[in-house]
Amino acid sequence: RVRVNNPHNVDTTLFANEQVPVESAAVTELIELLALQENVQQVAEAAPDSFDQAPEIVRVAVTPDFHKARGIPVGTVLATRGFVVPQAIGSDINCGMRLHTTTLKSDDISANLDGLETAFRHLYFEGGRNIPMTRSQRHAMFTGGLEAVLDATANLHEGLWPLVRELGAEDQLDRIERRGSLPAGRVFGLSDFMGTDDRLSRDGQIGSIGGGNHFVEIQRVEKVLDGTVAHAWGLKPGTVTIMIHTGSVGVGHLCGGHYRDVVRKIHPEKLKHPANGVFVLPEGARHREHAETFWDALHNAANFAYANRMFLAVMAVAGMREVFGDRVGCDLVYDAPHNFVWKDEVDGEEVVLHRKGATPARGFEAMAGTPFAHYGEPVLVPGSMGASSFVLVGQGNAESMASASHGAGRTLSRGEAMRGFDEEFRKFMEEFRVVTPTDLRRADVRQRPDILGKKLEEIKQEAPFAYKGIGPVVNTLTGAGIARPVVELTPLMTIKG
Ligand code: 5GP
Ligand code: MN
Ligand code: MN
Repeated sequence: RVRVNNPHNVDTTLFANEQVPVESAAVTELIELLALQENVQQVAEAAPDSFDQAPEIVRVAVTPDFHKARGIPVGTVLATRGFVVPQAIGSDINCGMRLHTTTLKSDDISANLDGLETAFRHLYFEGGRNIPMTRSQRHAMFTGGLEAVLDATANLHEGLWPLVRELGAEDQLDRIERRGSLPAGRVFGLSDFMGTDDRLSRDGQIGSIGGGNHFVEIQRVEKVLDGTVAHAWGLKPGTVTIMIHTGSVGVGHLCGGHYRDVVRKIHPEKLKHPANGVFVLPEGARHREHAETFWDALHNAANFAYANRMFLAVMAVAGMREVFGDRVGCDLVYDAPHNFVWKDEVDGEEVVLHRKGATPARGFEAMAGTPFAHYGEPVLVPGSMGASSFVLVGQGNAESMASASHGAGRTLSRGEAMRGFDEEFRKFMEEFRVVTPTDLRRADVRQRPDILGKKLEEIKQEAPFAYKGIGPVVNTLTGAGIARPVVELTPLMTIKG
C-alpha cells in the first residue's frame, strides 16, 4: 500500500505487489490521470456557473490488477466532488460478475461434458436463446431494470421466461447490487433494440455473452478458506458454481457513445481538446439537463447488463436441467458491476465514486438491509479459464474506498499471446473443455483450418498463460485489509462468446 506523491496533491493510494511494483509504468499513468484536476479547473475558469460546488478530485486508489487502457487505466477508483468523469466508468457500462451455486456435484459435470456442451451450444449459440420481448417489455427493462422487466413479463410462458421468473424471485433480487434496478426517465437512442408492441420478438443482444474475456464458466468449490462465511453463502467443498462475466455489450456501446457526445458538446470551445483526452461532466445548474441525459443513458445500459447476466444464468441452468433433470436447483451468491459509478460517501463527504475495472468490497456496516449485513459484500475475483477464481468478503477498507481488483489482469497482450506458446496451448485445449460458437470437436470443422484457425486464435488470446497469476492479487487484497478470501473455485468448463 503506497501513497503516491503528485504535483496535484490528490490523496492517492496504489496497492502494489510483485506484479504491479511501485516503480512500474502504472505510477506514471496514475500521475497523468491526476492531471484531470487541471481539466476541471480550466472548465471552472471558463464557465464558473458549471458547478454547484468547488470541483475537486477527492481521492484516488488503484487496485493490484491496474493496467493501461484508453483514457483512464483499468483498476482505477476515483472519487470526485461536483463532476462526473464518464471515461472513468469504462466503455462496457456495468460489465460485472455474477455467481450462482447449484445443487450439482463436480463429478456430475465431469461425467457429462459432452451432453452439457451440446445443451449449452444449443442454448447460447444455436437458436435456443428464446427470451422474446415486446417493445413495452424492453422499455420496462431499460428504464427500470430487473424489477420492472419481471413485472412486465409476469404472465409470459414462452421460451425461457418461467425460468427467468424462478431466478428472479424476490430473495434472489436482494443479492444483486441495487437489486439490478436503476431508475431512468427515458430510453435513449436504442430504437434498433426496441422491437414492436404487437408481437414478442427476439434480439441478438438479449442473452449474448459478448466477445473476448466475457464468459460463462462452470466451476467447483476447490478449497474453503473461511468456513463461516462460505457456509452462509452456500459454498461447500465440491459445490458446482456458475460464474458469469458480461456487460451491456452493443447496447451499452450505444448508450456510452450517446453520452460521450453530450459531454463533448458542452465543453467550452477552447477546451474541446484536453491533452489527456478526458472530458468531465460538471454537475451544476448550467448543465442540469445534460447531467440527466447522462444518468438516464447510463442507467439504460446498466439495467440491460443486469438483465443480460441473469439471462445467461438462466441458460446455464436450463442446460443443466436438460442433462440432469428438473432436480437441479440454483441460488444466487451475488451480482455486482466492476465498471460503474455511484453516489456514495468517502471520508464522510458525498462524492461521485467511479470504478473502472474495480469491484465494490464494502464491509458489513455498509451492507445493512441486505443479506450481507453480517459478513460484508461478496467480492468475485476471476482468474482465467483453466486457472482458479476466488470469492472474497469485503472489509470496507477506507484507502481503497471499499474497492477490490476485478480479476488477475493480462500478462500478455492479445498479439503476444498469439505468437508462440503453441505447446502450452495444445495441452490446455486437450485438458480443458472450452465451448464456443464454433463446434471445435466436429469432424468437418477439424478439416477446415480457416474456420478452426480463426476460432483457436481467439481462444488462445484468452488462454491461462495470457493472464497473470491470481495468487498475488488475492494476497495483496488480504494483506491490505481490502477483502478476506472465502473460497477458491476451479473451472470445469468455460463457454466463450
Ligand atoms: P475485464 O473485466 O477487465 O474484461 O476482465 C476481468 C478478468 O476476468 C480478467 O482480468 C481475468 O482475470 C478474468 N478472466 C478472463 N477470462 C476468463 C475466463 O474465461 N475465466 C475466468 N475464470 N476468468 C477470466
Ligand atoms: Mn466487459
Ligand atoms: Mn469486465
